[in-house]
Amino acid sequence: RLMSSEASLQTDPTDEKRFKGHDMLAPFTAGWQSTDLHPLVIEKSEGSYVYDINGKKYIDALAGLWCTALGGSEPRLVEAATAQLKKLPFYHSFWNRTTKPSLDLAKELLETFTARKMGKVFFTNSGSEANDSQVKLVWYYNNALGRPNKKKFIARANSYHGSTLISASLSGLPALHKKFDLPAPFVLHTDCPHYWRFHLPGETEEEFSTRLANNLENLILKEGPDTIAAFIAEPVMGAGGVIVPPKTYFEKIQAVVKKYDILFIADEVITAFGRLGTMFGCDKYNIQPDLVSVAKALSSAYMPIGAILVSPEISEVIHSQSNKLGSFAHGFTYSGHPVSCAVALEALKIYKERNIVEQVQAISPRFQEGIRSFSDSSIIGEIRGTGLILGTEFTDKSPNATFPPEWGVGAIFGSECEKRGMLVRVAGDSIMMSPPFIISPSEVDELISIYGEALKGTEQRVAELKSQ
Ligand code: PMP
Repeated sequence: RLMSSEASLQTDPTDEKRFKGHDMLAPFTAGWQSTDLHPLVIEKSEGSYVYDINGKKYIDALAGLWCTALGGSEPRLVEAATAQLKKLPFYHSFWNRTTKPSLDLAKELLETFTARKMGKVFFTNSGSEANDSQVKLVWYYNNALGRPNKKKFIARANSYHGSTLISASLSGLPALHKKFDLPAPFVLHTDCPHYWRFHLPGETEEEFSTRLANNLENLILKEGPDTIAAFIAEPVMGAGGVIVPPKTYFEKIQAVVKKYDILFIADEVITAFGRLGTMFGCDKYNIQPDLVSVAKALSSAYMPIGAILVSPEISEVIHSQSNKLGSFAHGFTYSGHPVSCAVALEALKIYKERNIVEQVQAISPRFQEGIRSFSDSSIIGEIRGTGLILGTEFTDKSPNATFPPEWGVGAIFGSECEKRGMLVRVAGDSIMMSPPFIISPSEVDELISIYGEALKGTEQRVAELKSQ
């Protein structure tokens, strides 16, 4: 059972304070996990570390869920939230009423994004809501332009865009579709750009990218270009296993999308604000998107908030149409929540003041090279990543020599890490890490050393499983 790809990890079951059989219907958790296992209850955080309810300390190698960019104890974010809570804990942004923090944050976000000029910002509470809102916005836009048939979306196999109805449909992970009657029929999926796993014998990265761009073009032609509204992509795929795009991929994909008047949506929910060693993934891969989704590091996760950056061309159409047709009837009670916006403004201020992008650039070689020094392990197929994001895929070396799923090699590694005081993300036989941007050199060394010890433990277990 530990083997399920959805397994969180078995922890010391001796302490009853661990709430076995608790009352939550917990996200991305199997029923048997909450009844048979004790949840890991996190109680406190400090810098790059979290502590469980029994006082055990863990290095938070995933920064929560790829999000606590400034670590777990940034006093300025707490002060920003407290000051706003005291002054104005809530007011909404409907009907041309709004609050100062949301106005300021919209302005600041437009200034921070420089890959191209963007026009307006729409606020949500999460990444999923941002991507759902993208779809409605694009439909509104195409209806306004008199193109009622241009409504389909193309996303990619293995992508993760969220778990609401539409964002789960966009996602290319079968677990999000099976049993939920998804994906919705207007969503199509094209290739996952994972060179190591999917390239043909002798094919270079550039040739692989060309083939994927051709496949995308063929899909568009098959469906009819007039029916395809937008293409959505994470600059680096996160939850799908940390897939860094192969050389020339986005250049070629963008050319295809542009040719057929299809909008490009960059899902920067994980990649924005420094994760890749650039302010945005769009900067790193020279992407000129029409729409961008952000969340997570926007507030360093201290308050829930997401946002969409909308190109001037699209926002102008929406503005003029809503003048004619009535309001843009889409929004959430908490769109532009003043406390979330105040915290996000402070986070953006800190990123700038502390040159967070340079900080990530400075620390990431230590992290990337340190983990890659284990590439020769007999159970590692590929280590991949850039900046402060990294994935390890366990195989019997070659992409096709996967381990029997019932061995649960990824889960064994995750459990070995947890035992030694480190939390990583496990998905099947891939494990992922994305530490806080503020991780120090000595903390990176500690992370690498735990990784190495956990790897040894996993290698031993695999050797036992092989000999059985
Ligand atoms: N897009 C991407 C790329 C993500 O990684 C995530 C969350 N992991 C989401 C969207 C969904 O964000 P949320 O969980 O805040 O709804």
